[in-house]
Amino acid sequence: MSKRITASAANLPTVKVSARGAARLQDGHVWVYRSDVVSAEGVSPGSLITVTDHRGQALGMALYSSASQIAIRLISREPVADLPALLRKRIAAAIGYREPLIRDTDAYRVIFSEADFLPGLIVDRYNDVLSVQILTQAMDTAQVRETIISDLAARLQPASIFERVDPRIRELEQLPPRDSSRLHGERATAIFTMNGVQFHYDALRGQKTGAFLDQRENYAAAALYAGGEALDVFCYQGGFALHLAPGCSSITGVDSSRPALEMADQNAALNHRDIAWIEANAFDLLRDYAGSGRRYDTIVVDPPAFAKSKRDLDTALRGYKELNLRALKMLRPGGLLVTCCCSYHVSPADFVQMLAEASRDAHRGLRIVELRGQAKDHPVLLNVPETSYLKCVIAHVSN
Ligand code: SAH
Repeated sequence: MSKRITASAANLPTVKVSARGAARLQDGHVWVYRSDVVSAEGVSPGSLITVTDHRGQALGMALYSSASQIAIRLISREPVADLPALLRKRIAAAIGYREPLIRDTDAYRVIFSEADFLPGLIVDRYNDVLSVQILTQAMDTAQVRETIISDLAARLQPASIFERVDPRIRELEQLPPRDSSRLHGERATAIFTMNGVQFHYDALRGQKTGAFLDQRENYAAAALYAGGEALDVFCYQGGFALHLAPGCSSITGVDSSRPALEMADQNAALNHRDIAWIEANAFDLLRDYAGSGRRYDTIVVDPPAFAKSKRDLDTALRGYKELNLRALKMLRPGGLLVTCCCSYHVSPADFVQMLAEASRDAHRGLRIVELRGQAKDHPVLLNVPETSYLKCVIAHVSN
């Protein structure tokens, strides 16, 4: 970094990192783990800091967490004189980045944390309602919150802005508990439209920020090939089922969450679709259905993340394999499998390998039609592999 940073950031706290931490930043990553922090004396939680190597050479400006294993999240390799001004610039850039990329939807991710150089901040848009997730100490300071909310309100003119709180994340960041709540405007509900399909939205209900926007392009892709009798396993509020319905003769969605299925049913009514919803544990249901000889032409498998950490990888792969094996056994020759994995710790290569093993064990040939990832509004930042997490394989059963 330039010498200027040392001078302009002279009155900011400094955190010194080990040679390994410095190498990680120099290699293009933006995180330094706590084990690579050499000294952070007197640095307050959530502050803007100058990161230096062990010789005191400045490496960049970062947001500091006193609690997370990710102690440092780089926000700029250049000097930062005014954090609110930088945040406003980054928000404008994130909005601008999406303008040419976003088509056929009024629901998309506006800000994707590290991938938009705003580590710890997620903002999703559902028509005119914004849903915000604040994931770090730095993003939770009063000044930063106020900057973000007022800037989003001014730029996007939403009817309302809500914050969705994940209590586990606040606990990990040692932030005081807080409920999900309204931060701006009034209305909590909206109807959003993606790929011509309509969905109900309620900012204070549902999982994550309300829907799985990262699957938007995969819904449209799967709809190109789906047909016949279809089963959408882990259907949530019906994202795949509603997209596949026009091309299929019948469709059933399965999920263990009753509130998700109630919303799915309302979504089906909104789109004048006739879809059967089953509340069940997907593992049990697939075992029963496969055992009793049920057959389908299209099956979607989109489970929650089974691998929350690297340690869970083997167990997770066994879970994915079991689901896919059963799905493959139930598919008719020529049938379509749409199978997804949102665990970052399972690499695309691991996932395809698992699928190859499932196909061999099920004695079913599989031809890959498309190997897909997350929608473009969830950009992947090279050198920060954690920004790439979603896999979606669309494949034909050949025999
Ligand atoms: N396909 C959905 C997203 C699925 S998210 C979409 O595109 O919107 C994962 C879903 O799995 C959640 O809805 C969750 O309620 C459900 N789920 C988690 N464990 C389950 C289980 N054992 N059986 C059935 N559903 C489960």
